[in-house]
Order: sequence, then C-alpha cells, then structure tokens
Amino acid sequence: METAHILSIYHDSVVDGEGLRTVIFFAGCPHHCQGCHNPSSWNKRNGHEMTIEQIVQQSLNPLTNITFSGGEPFDQARTAAKVAQQLKTYGKNIWAYTGWTLEELLESQHPDQLELLNYVDVLVDGRFKIEERDIALSFRGSRNQRIIDMKQYRYQ
Ligand code: SF4
Repeated sequence: METAHILSIYHDSVVDGEGLRTVIFFAGCPHHCQGCHNPSSWNKRNGHEMTIEQIVQQSLNPLTNITFSGGEPFDQARTAAKVAQQLKTYGKNIWAYTGWTLEELLESQHPDQLELLNYVDVLVDGRFKIEERDIALSFRGSRNQRIIDMKQYRYQ
C-alpha cells in the first residue's frame, strides 16, 4: 500500500495560496534552508504515515482548495501525484510549494515529479533565502521564490 509521511493537514489557511485552502504538510525536506520557518519538517520521521485514501479523505473540504507544502512535497512525488490526481476529480485547485526551481524539476526528468507537476495549478518554487527575505511578499518568504501559473507556463 502506498503511503506518504505527513506532518499535518490544516484546514482554513489564507496564507498558503489564494483563497481559503487546506494545506497538506509533507514531512521531510532535503533543502535545509537557513532561516527555515519549520525545521521540524526536515525529518521525515516527524510525520506519520498515511495512505493515499486517508490523505484525500482528510483533505476534502467543500469550502477549500488545496496546497501541498512541507517539508518538500516533491520528495514524496509518487504518492503526492496520486493524491493530486484524486483531488482533481473533486475539482480542486492545487498549489504546491517546492524548494527546487521549476527548471531543476524539469531537468531532473524524474517521472513522479513530472507527473505531480501536471496536476499543479500554481507552483511556488525555490529555496528560502534569508538574504532575500521580504515580509511584504504574499504567499512566499523570499524574493527569489516565484509564483508560477502552470497553465500559462504550459501554453507558452
Ligand atoms: S524548502 Fe521550505 S521546508 Fe525545506 S528547508 Fe527550505 S524553507 Fe524549510
């Protein structure tokens, strides 16, 4: 049975993307950014193992769209892609945060990461850089990070 390590699933966020969102926090992050908002997310073992069905059921909320955060959701891309696929059948808009840039994800040619990208409507990419931190920014912590509309990107 496929599972992912999940730190928590939080409903009713207004800071992790546009509108009201349910945030799935994936456990484990390889980036170790200086000044990370949540260093306890770095260790996968700090999360609990959940099946795809459990994640989907606990994430569904008629009032919210969905954000994948962490940790690093693309580190568990195989399960995350299946969760995203199912959430899309409920018409959910999906944002995803990643410490990798979009170019790094595309160049890696990792099939599970590419599949997950296919379900993402908006990608917030790049590591948090403390020297570029700006508290005036919406939905991102440092100026190097980008909010990428993936639909526009795909049709370029
Ligand atoms: S990518 Fe995000 S969760 Fe990972 S270390 Fe950087 S700021 Fe923390």
